[in-house]
Amino acid sequence: MDPTLTMFISLIATSGVFTVFLCMYAYIKRKETPSAYTFVIYTATQAIYIFAHAFEMSSDTIAEVKKWTMLEYIGIGAAPAIGLLIVMQYVGMNLTRTRVAALFVIPAITLVMVITNDYHHLFYKDMYFRENTPFLTTDIVIGQYYIVHGAYIFGCMLAAVVLLLRRWRQTKKAYRLQLVTLIMGQFMPMTGAFVYLMGLTPYGIDPVPMILCITSAMYIWAIVSTKMLTIIPIAKDRIFESMREGAIVLDFADRLVDTNGVITVMFPGFTTDMLGLTLDEIWIRLSGEPFPVARLEDGVQEEFSWRSAEGRECFYQIRSSVVRGRNGEPIGSLLMVIDVTEQKLLQDQLEQLAYYDGLTKLLNRSEFLRRSKMILEEDSSKQLTTCILLFDIDHFKHINDTYGHDVGDLAIQHVVKVSRRVEADAPGALIARYGGEEFVIALPDCSLDKAALLAEQIRAQLAAKEMNGSYGSIAITASFGLTQSSQRGESLQMLLKHADIALYQAKRAGRNQVRLYDGPLESPLDTPR
Ligand code: GH3
Ligand code: MG
Ligand code: MG
Repeated sequence: MDPTLTMFISLIATSGVFTVFLCMYAYIKRKETPSAYTFVIYTATQAIYIFAHAFEMSSDTIAEVKKWTMLEYIGIGAAPAIGLLIVMQYVGMNLTRTRVAALFVIPAITLVMVITNDYHHLFYKDMYFRENTPFLTTDIVIGQYYIVHGAYIFGCMLAAVVLLLRRWRQTKKAYRLQLVTLIMGQFMPMTGAFVYLMGLTPYGIDPVPMILCITSAMYIWAIVSTKMLTIIPIAKDRIFESMREGAIVLDFADRLVDTNGVITVMFPGFTTDMLGLTLDEIWIRLSGEPFPVARLEDGVQEEFSWRSAEGRECFYQIRSSVVRGRNGEPIGSLLMVIDVTEQKLLQDQLEQLAYYDGLTKLLNRSEFLRRSKMILEEDSSKQLTTCILLFDIDHFKHINDTYGHDVGDLAIQHVVKVSRRVEADAPGALIARYGGEEFVIALPDCSLDKAALLAEQIRAQLAAKEMNGSYGSIAITASFGLTQSSQRGESLQMLLKHADIALYQAKRAGRNQVRLYDGPLESPLDTPR
């Protein structure tokens, strides 16, 4: 055999061996990623093409060449379409069954055309051995269908290159080498095929099988060094970027490894430029304070607030989960950040409706009963005394009748404003609207003397200052009934009853005064309202 031909054939055979090796490697890895499966088929079709080409080159008769050509076209037709499929998977395109099937219509027709060419000569009109060459090489006179086939394989390779180039900017630096490998893997055979079809190769030899030797080697390198088959970075990036939740990936030292665009929208200024900084360092840059959630262990679920640039208060829920390495060792954490502002506001509104009174914004009666019961239980368990102060606006009906209901409401608010000052002097004081114009204060760990002083302060302040408005000046007073828990362990209901008795006595004694409960009423006529 001619030494040049031997060299070409051995080059092609090496290329074939490389490709088979790649195919086997991808087959072993097939369970780790679905794209490995496509890669197996891709390399298998390429191997068929390469070996069939080697046999074709060593053939002595045109009949033999035709036979190998038929086998060769299983690969030539399908490989570019499968290559495009791999790229589509890599960039995360949505691959439906119909789309995949559509890619193989032309390759299937091509194969049928090649096999049946002797009957219609649509693929090649003639096939012959070239003259004046040191060894036998075949050439063809192309038929009409050959143009369809040629256009299609160039189209597939070009589409793949375009898809990859379009992803260039969105691809993180670490993955760009993979992208280059994939681009070259498409671009090099495409260029080779072009040069060949232009008739520019020595002895009219098809350089593509030899080029595939180089691209196969590149793929092997990419798979081994950048784990191209085990991760589909761009597809993964797309999922990462299309999530509605913010995502932050930290390494074992809580340094930023990755983040998605949602985070930048939530916290302007928080970008991937901050890679390598710890979360606290980032937060200090953003807000001047360390990150509000201190412990970010696995399973942590906490809320924190953030004031946006427009001054709006937003609430975020953060969920932390540990990221593990191949051997299960923790290598970092993934933080999912969810905007819960709306839920939080709704929850606040519901809470406001359930626990608070609309007019005065004080606790309502039922919430007061629930909370003051806990205060009483806690105080009595510690042998401390609790005081209950009940008070009612004097002659309120008169205010309503004279000035109208609206002014009556203002009077209620006025009383609330004055009586709330008690909260500053008595920490833990629980003040509530007990009824229409009747209020109650529970004073935890408070002596009767101190409570009486507080009640007297409220009474005096109310009496001293009239309520003024467009309606004129209205003098407002209130009557107060006070009681204290004792070692007898009175129930809350009992204490409220005692305070009510004292209040009733204050009313009977002329109003605008504080009365302490001093035992049950004596006369049956002395029944509180
Ligand atoms: P007393 O000094 O004995 O307490 O006399 P009073 O007129 O204040 O009598 P009472 O406490 O029974 O009066 C309660 C009145 O308060 C009856 C009701 O019409 C009125 N009232 C209850 N809730 C409201 C309210 O939310 N707004 C207004 N404007 N009036 C209310
Ligand atoms: Mg009243
Ligand atoms: Mg009343």
